[in-house]
Amino acid sequence: MATRSEIAVAIDGPMGSGKSTVAREVARRLGFRYVDTGAMYRAVAVAALRRDVAMDDPDALAAVARALRLEVTADPDGGMRVAVDGEDVTGELRTVSVNRVVGKVAGAPGVRAVLGGIQRALGASGGVVMEGRDIGSVILPQAEVKIFLTASRDARARRRQAELAAAGEHVSLDDVRRIEDEDDRAATTRPVGPLRIAPDAEVIDSTERTVDEVVDRILASVARARGL
Ligand code: C5P
Repeated sequence: MATRSEIAVAIDGPMGSGKSTVAREVARRLGFRYVDTGAMYRAVAVAALRRDVAMDDPDALAAVARALRLEVTADPDGGMRVAVDGEDVTGELRTVSVNRVVGKVAGAPGVRAVLGGIQRALGASGGVVMEGRDIGSVILPQAEVKIFLTASRDARARRRQAELAAAGEHVSLDDVRRIEDEDDRAATTRPVGPLRIAPDAEVIDSTERTVDEVVDRILASVARARGL
């Protein structure tokens, strides 16, 4: 850790907690690299769909993850772009077909091992804001700032519905709640990399807070961690 020139910020939380918006803004304000680990699982899902791999075969999914060359780069708008074997697949990450299978992909231990290795390497030198489900607990347990973002079930469902609508997908609130409950169940019960709050994480409930309020609170924790 002594060789790190900057700190690492881990932001975890369930679907719809607002972590992507918050993590991107924190990264922008700090001039840090933004890493969206959900996008990496989604990229493996894209590759598995293209190869027609059986989604209930974790070993076959792991083989896909091991065989592909995954590259993540910064997007000029503050997001992250993902390329698989040299082809940019960013535009395909949030489609209905990927949404449907990504839980299976993320539940495959071999996939988690491959992506976990890439994520640890990305976080090793610090200067990074990494968001996901198991970043503070499993991937970067040494992160100086660990945030676990939550929100009420309704607030999460409304945000997720708005996100999907922005992507051209119009889903009823009841259906969003069902998708959300299923992702929560899968994420909290999987044996590898389950969604859980790291013991030393700061829990922030975003239900009644604006994005700016949450970002400011995280930046205050970053300043404390830097000893400022
Ligand atoms: O956050 P996002 O919806 O893009 O995540 C896509 C999928 O990958 C979800 O099913 C989520 O539970 C899973 N995931 C994960 N571990 C992470 C990030 C996301 O299992 N670190």
